[in-house]
Amino acid sequence: PLELAEARRDMVSSPTLAINEAVSRRRAEGKETLHLGFGEAIFPLHPALRQALAEAIESTGYAPVAGVLKLRQAIAGYMERTRGISCSEEQVVVGPGSKPLLYALLQVLEGDVLVPRPSWVSYGPQIRLAGWQVVPVATDPADHHRLTPEVLSDAVTAAHASGAKPRVLIVNSPSNPTGGMLAEEDVAVLGAWARAHGITIISDEIYAELAHGWRPHVSPARFYPEGSIITGGLSKAFSAGGWRLGYAILPAGERGAQLGKALRALASEIWSAAATPIEKAAIVAFTPNTDLETYVRRSARIHGYVTHALYQTLIELGVACPKPAAGFYLYPDFAPWRGTLVNLGVTTGQQLAQYLLDEWAIATLPGVAFGEEPDALRLRLSTSHLSIVSTGSAPKEQAAELW
Ligand code: PLP
Repeated sequence: PLELAEARRDMVSSPTLAINEAVSRRRAEGKETLHLGFGEAIFPLHPALRQALAEAIESTGYAPVAGVLKLRQAIAGYMERTRGISCSEEQVVVGPGSKPLLYALLQVLEGDVLVPRPSWVSYGPQIRLAGWQVVPVATDPADHHRLTPEVLSDAVTAAHASGAKPRVLIVNSPSNPTGGMLAEEDVAVLGAWARAHGITIISDEIYAELAHGWRPHVSPARFYPEGSIITGGLSKAFSAGGWRLGYAILPAGERGAQLGKALRALASEIWSAAATPIEKAAIVAFTPNTDLETYVRRSARIHGYVTHALYQTLIELGVACPKPAAGFYLYPDFAPWRGTLVNLGVTTGQQLAQYLLDEWAIATLPGVAFGEEPDALRLRLSTSHLSIVSTGSAPKEQAAELW
């Protein structure tokens, strides 16, 4: 009895969840730990969402597989307002987080998957679980990790030489882990490249609302609507990761409708529907509401203010680091410190993460988790970093209001 399937014997938990568990263990042992490892927003839930959930608590029946109609309508309107993309509720599929929706999309789409390096920890394992090959796209930190036709075509050529057949590209702008965001002209060129190569784009836009404000977020679906799928949700900008509410936006037209049918069929056999009270409460997040919009914009600005202060400090310390444009991550590369670190017995990012946890009680995620070696670490902002805000003026008042 209890024999594990051969293909699953070497599976390990996602590094982000593993670091979270390690921190919980340490805290249970009474060891105070600064947690910079997990991908969670630092601001509290907006009262309008709390109130909406309280009102929806009696909604105990199952929701439709694709999500309750009013929520899908609200999300379609939200896409128009925030992305400039016209979209009907037929194109929206709601699920228990964007993560399972991403996995379901990989299950129903044909072909191996181009994945920029570095990128979010779960794309690779999800692609392999769905039975496809990961085709890495090597981006250049000196060129702001841009996704140019050259780096993409190089990846496709290398894939063909090794027998892989890439048909899908994952784009995550704003990016976890770098906090970088593609410029509008690069997104336009990217869309044209994907169209010319018949590649489907999965655009993971979970951090879109958290653009810091000096550059707008632009979706590839603006330039390549017939071949782009957007995913997003409540987890980051609305500080509600634990609510598990995400959405996928499929293209209009017959192909999009076929994809929607397959996605709903798969969802109906796996999770049936997202939780009904959460779906009903989520309607508020995607319906025009000046107060909530101000909350999201302010939290994005404060994340921007704090990440930039930390970025500046890292640069002054001689650590290389991409300049963040969105979200709450920094992705410093400690290679320039290698000499100092070797003296401490630290030669890889993984060892550096362990050293910081053991000696300094600071939890981080090593770059190897994002498909990268050897010296990078991903840092997430923590609430304690908000003390940086107290040296500022306007952001300080805004942070106080959010709390
Ligand atoms: N995509 C990226 C890049 C993420 O960082 C995360 C969460 O960490 C997700 C997707 C998953 O978000 P959700 O909570 O909607 O499943």
